[in-house]
Amino acid sequence: MVKVNSRCDLSCTYCYVYEMADQSWRAQPVRMTPATASRVAARVAEHVRTHGLPSVELILHGGEPLLAGPDLLAHLVTATRDAVGGAARVGARIQTNGARLDTGFLRRFAELDISVAVSLDGDRKAHDRHRKYANGQGSHAAVTKSLRLLRDSFPDLFSGLLCTIDLRNDPVETYEALLEHRPPRIDFLLPLGNWSLPPPGRAPGAAATPYADWLIAAFDRWYGAPRMETEVRLFSDIIQLLFGAPSSSETVGLAPATVLVIDTDGTIELSDTVRSASPGAAGTGLHVGSNTFDDALLLPETAVRQSGVAALAPECRACEVRDVCGGGQYAHRYRAGSGFANPSVYCPDLLALIRHISGVVAADLAARLERLR
Ligand code: SF4
Repeated sequence: MVKVNSRCDLSCTYCYVYEMADQSWRAQPVRMTPATASRVAARVAEHVRTHGLPSVELILHGGEPLLAGPDLLAHLVTATRDAVGGAARVGARIQTNGARLDTGFLRRFAELDISVAVSLDGDRKAHDRHRKYANGQGSHAAVTKSLRLLRDSFPDLFSGLLCTIDLRNDPVETYEALLEHRPPRIDFLLPLGNWSLPPPGRAPGAAATPYADWLIAAFDRWYGAPRMETEVRLFSDIIQLLFGAPSSSETVGLAPATVLVIDTDGTIELSDTVRSASPGAAGTGLHVGSNTFDDALLLPETAVRQSGVAALAPECRACEVRDVCGGGQYAHRYRAGSGFANPSVYCPDLLALIRHISGVVAADLAARLERLR
């Protein structure tokens, strides 16, 4: 994940980069330089060669990555593909707030095969509650205009929508508002938070399951549709994990962390969301100018995220849904004083959601097998 630009043109109220514990962005240069981008490219190629990787994925991120401008984005992707040569496939994806996505950017992305994921929180009311410009005006109108352009004129580039859950929004209405844009995939994101800085509506340790209730309503609408309308990654991941396959994200499951973050100045950091926990929690002290990605892999903070069950809290190791939940997202486990060796602050929600999905899928499968007899 490459932070090509450290500032944003929106001021979203829940943003982990600007509104939570870590304020290290203040010390970062606004934009990555072409020279730093070239160093990143060389490090990616070195890592591909060292490990004989068949593919690698560049996630262009920020702040708002479009603010870096098309030339820097093109340079990073092209330089990485040139450095890797034919040794591996270099995929590229940009994760944008969509406010300034226009034909110029999209033509360039089409030339470079850069897919586009856009943040959208639902209908206008849901989206504009948080995703505002600094003057307080909502960004829904601009984002949906960009989405129309993306889905109608460049549909092959559209990789999906990211939606941060707000319990005040109706789950089914939210899902259907996202569906209107015909996304190939939806990522429902639990708001960042932890035991010391709880997410909205989640009292740490309480038995209530407000996020599971929200997600279960969305799941039932998604799973109950007569045909698959889109992929919802969290639901697909849980179903895959129930059948013993690995997860495609770090939200659930026990798969090793596979993402490193490069900041605009070339600093190497751990997973981006860990920033939300405490100041400097994502820092490694490493830099693409003098360190390989293997240096980051050997850090104890990384090793703990590669060691599966062994790194979980005792409650998680003994849990009935351990292999599916995997203790939840790493950042959600943080508690001041004990670090990350805790269950997720969303533990009751994760347990209830996984039990529900498992029950629905098991009953469905049993009924279908019965009909085959
Ligand atoms: S449901 Fe709770 S106890 Fe079980 S693995 Fe997940 S976070 Fe840990």
